[in-house]
Amino acid sequence: MTFPLNTPIWVHSSAVHGKGVFATRHIAAGETVIEYVGEIITMTEALRRHPHDAANPDHTFYFHLDDGRVIDALKEGNDSKWINHSCRPNCVPDEVKGRIFIQTRRPVFKGEELTFDYGLFSDEPLTEDLKARYACRCGAKKCRGTMLALR
Ligand SMILES: [Zn+2]
Repeated sequence: MTFPLNTPIWVHSSAVHGKGVFATRHIAAGETVIEYVGEIITMTEALRRHPHDAANPDHTFYFHLDDGRVIDALKEGNDSKWINHSCRPNCVPDEVKGRIFIQTRRPVFKGEELTFDYGLFSDEPLTEDLKARYACRCGAKKCRGTMLALR
């Protein structure tokens, strides 16, 4: 649990999933709150490392970059790796030259949990079973029931 001086967020347990990231002050829309950092690896290496936790095989700290590489926040990651998924998120990841910045997409109140839409992709067919493995419990009215991107 940390209170960083330069970022308006802190990590503690979440009602959504395990740990979460929360605003320590009011954050305006469009503010960059933190960079999603970690070791940048190839997709091949990402698949080789997967799963990092055999008891919870579908949980990773991966962020997929547009060029196909992956940020593995399990290594060299910061508090951003604890940001949970929501189908109606208050943040959006912004990719700039291979770096990911987590930005607010609307004003966020002090104490509110920060979320973004993981929009996960899988090589496997999009079956009900697969969706269930990546089940979403964000509680949004229009929750799509899974953290996978449905397209
Ligand atoms: Zn949801």
